[in-house]
Amino acid sequence: MSDQSDFYGSGTGHDTGTGHDERSGSEVLAPEQILCVDCGGTCHLLTRPYLEEDGSQGFRPGDIVAYRCSDCLDRWDIELE
Ligand SMILES: [Zn+2]
Repeated sequence: MSDQSDFYGSGTGHDTGTGHDERSGSEVLAPEQILCVDCGGTCHLLTRPYLEEDGSQGFRPGDIVAYRCSDCLDRWDIELE
């Protein structure tokens, strides 16, 4: 007696998982220097960009980067877009 069950019948359905965890991908660059709006001097970037293990570096939108003016020593916190 042959018992041939239909193993094509019930599958697991469609696997919608892509298996690829995609990051936001939208990196932004912060300028190394900006112009001080107070004295017109040069503000230097204090915050260092992140460095990923895969070699990518930079900043992400919404990150706060700090600048220090070399003339009036004011500190400026800039939120990146
Ligand atoms: Zn200044």
